[in-house]
Amino acid sequence: MTETTLKTGRRVVWSGEGMPASDGAGVKLTRVIGQPKLPDLDPFLMLDEFRSDDPKAYMAGFPDHPHRGFETVTYMLAGRLRHRDNTGREGLLTAGSVQWMTAGRGIVHSEMPEQERGLMQGFQLWINLPAKDKMTAPRYQEFAPETIPEATLAEGAKVKVVAGLVSGVKGPVEPGETEPVFLDISLSAGAEAIIPLPEGHSAFLYPHEGSVLVGEGEERLARGRVAVLSPGDHVTLTAEGAGARLLLIAGKPLKEPVAKYGPFVMNTEAELRQAVQDFQAGRF
Ligand code: MN
Repeated sequence: MTETTLKTGRRVVWSGEGMPASDGAGVKLTRVIGQPKLPDLDPFLMLDEFRSDDPKAYMAGFPDHPHRGFETVTYMLAGRLRHRDNTGREGLLTAGSVQWMTAGRGIVHSEMPEQERGLMQGFQLWINLPAKDKMTAPRYQEFAPETIPEATLAEGAKVKVVAGLVSGVKGPVEPGETEPVFLDISLSAGAEAIIPLPEGHSAFLYPHEGSVLVGEGEERLARGRVAVLSPGDHVTLTAEGAGARLLLIAGKPLKEPVAKYGPFVMNTEAELRQAVQDFQAGRF
């Protein structure tokens, strides 16, 4: 797709703030999606931002816990997080790295800070899997910072492409049914970017530094606010003030029934009961 073929600009249909929350063994975070004001955005089930330089807010980490039926995407901006699972797999997530985990039929893992001071910052996104893939074998796609390509869209407008295609630059994530787009966009003062998006995908923006003006209506979106976008084939973003850095995430809606219980996300209550039984019996 080139700029000249773009027709329908997306605009903000809803915006709001994340909610302070605590998860794992007491990690303080902001729940952006998966909270009363924005319970979900098919296919997205949850987005957490963690950002603190107080070790008391993050040291407890996320000890052993299960997942079944969806994908978790961890994007680190600062700090170090050690991952270990029940198959013996282990890895260290450092600043700028991405772990795209397809939990499928189930894993049990821990996610623990590997630092005793300093800033810990990043995101975890949960993306639903279609019914046909919920019981697939678990799979990891892990990307070191230098393996995530960057597209330059205009003067002062750079995009780290984790998933999706922007200006001929393709992200390393192999897409599943939801054909995810996961972009980290940096805009310097005054910069403007036109980002193409698949027309029917659900999409949201989350500035993690500074603020931006969104779409033709130039709705202002400041750090810490999430904006759900209307359908359309592109969105226009303009930096406000000193510039901005934001996530732009999109995915194809699954339009399937969702049955959720903590870290299990299935289609029916019976499948949820089975998930709990399988976990308790050590079948993950
Ligand atoms: Mn987890």
